[in-house]
Amino acid sequence: MNVGKFLWAILFLLVGLGLSLALGRFLYQEESKAIELGFRSDIDQLSAVFEREVLLNLEILFALRESVSVLPDMDSERFRILTQKLLERSPAIQAFAWAPVVRHEDLSGFVGLQREQFVNFALKEAVGTGLRAAQERPWYVPVQFIEPLSENRAALGYDLASEGSRLAALLAARETGTMAATAGIRLVQEPENQKGFLVFAPLYRPASSGRGLRDGMEHYGFINGVFRVGELVHQAIGHELGNDFLFQVYDRSGDENVLLFSSADPKLADWDAEGRYRSAIFDIGGRQWVVEAVPAKAFIERRRGRLPVFVAGSGVLFAGLLFSYLLVSDRRAAELSAAKTELERISLTDSLTGLANRRHFDAVLEAEYRRAIRQGTALSLIMLDIDHFKEYNDLYGHPKGDACLALVADALRQVVHRPADLVARYGGEEFAIILPDTPDASEVADACRQAVEALGIDHETSGAAKVVTISVGTAVLTPETWQQNSTDLLNRADDALYQAKETGRNRVCSA
Ligand code: GH3
Ligand code: MG
Ligand code: MG
Repeated sequence: MNVGKFLWAILFLLVGLGLSLALGRFLYQEESKAIELGFRSDIDQLSAVFEREVLLNLEILFALRESVSVLPDMDSERFRILTQKLLERSPAIQAFAWAPVVRHEDLSGFVGLQREQFVNFALKEAVGTGLRAAQERPWYVPVQFIEPLSENRAALGYDLASEGSRLAALLAARETGTMAATAGIRLVQEPENQKGFLVFAPLYRPASSGRGLRDGMEHYGFINGVFRVGELVHQAIGHELGNDFLFQVYDRSGDENVLLFSSADPKLADWDAEGRYRSAIFDIGGRQWVVEAVPAKAFIERRRGRLPVFVAGSGVLFAGLLFSYLLVSDRRAAELSAAKTELERISLTDSLTGLANRRHFDAVLEAEYRRAIRQGTALSLIMLDIDHFKEYNDLYGHPKGDACLALVADALRQVVHRPADLVARYGGEEFAIILPDTPDASEVADACRQAVEALGIDHETSGAAKVVTISVGTAVLTPETWQQNSTDLLNRADDALYQAKETGRNRVCSA
């Protein structure tokens, strides 16, 4: 294969490989985009389902608030009955609490009344992560009743106004008359660090006069729900989030960014951080919540199809096949052309002597004849015949005869020098020489005769000499003999040869 073609084939291969890989990469990127969009839309849906679940639970608190507003006088038994069924049906609600506003001057009366039911009842407030006896303040919002009592007893007597986040929500609820949520907080009654949040619904009762009036209604306390974020997530989208993606809920109110829930440890699995997606912010009791999700790398991989790899692979394979085809076909073409050359050589060459054969001779004679006429040059033809060759064969045998033919052919080849000259085996033990642009061939003819004689091949029975000799006839085509055709030239040379035979052999005669 020549270098140019090889470079072309290499170029084809490289372009093919490049295109295949580029196409594969393009499809891979498109697929990545599609997977990302699919993931985002999944998370948007989950986020909407979660928001609905939270709001549904807040509605329960709202309904509870509406039902107590018709009977403002509350005791622990009534509170238990009112909340029991709701709590059984709503696992995400950790507790419902009843918390009136108690002025300092009414505190001892309030505590005394409570102790009739709860012997050790005392007012407590937050300090660090623990509790202590409440400090003196103008007013308090202690937890008076809480359900389910057994699991939340620790919160009884806790002054909700003693801790910043709760106080802010209390004030917001009283201010707006609507429900207000705290930020994510560690629950007092929860042993482990489960994040929850409280929602306060302000309570009003009819009043004729006094402070805190709202449309003729007097604010006197709060009912609150304690919600567990993790449970809300699980209720909304199932307990088994699995390891496909990290599902997180953040409270992003104001400057805050509090993680309320994480479905798994962000450091544990191999999450694809670049795929992190944040859905739209939604409002929960005046606070801004947002769902964020990060897909697992394995999850992304599982969603991938085989198309990009298949396309790139097929392209590479195709380029490779094309490359090998180019190499193979080129080699075959080279082999074919070599075979053709060899065939041509064989078809034009005499196998015994290696000289041009009769067919080659005929073609060259015709071509040179036309050229001589066209160019007005002389064309000489020499015919040569081995003398008494039949006897030679008879005496020495055919194999020796063949060897003799080959030697004579070599001798003739040595005599003729010009590139355009052609020595041919005319047939049997006869040879012919075409000499273009040669007006007189007698010198070459005699050189041939001498060369054969000089070979000194023994020929005992030859009447011409003791060695193998040839008789030679020449003829020339000149402008005067143009009217003749190539066969006439051949006949004249043959006649001259005949004459040489007649006049004693081993000699040259010219027509
Ligand atoms: P002349 O001097 O008149 O030419 O006599 P000659 O015997 O050479 O002529 P003739 O035509 O009677 O015989 C030619 C012989 O050449 C006959 C044949 O056996 C022999 N011959 C022709 N071709 C070959 C060949 O390829 N190999 C061998 N060994 N002999 C050949
Ligand atoms: Mg003969
Ligand atoms: Mg002969």
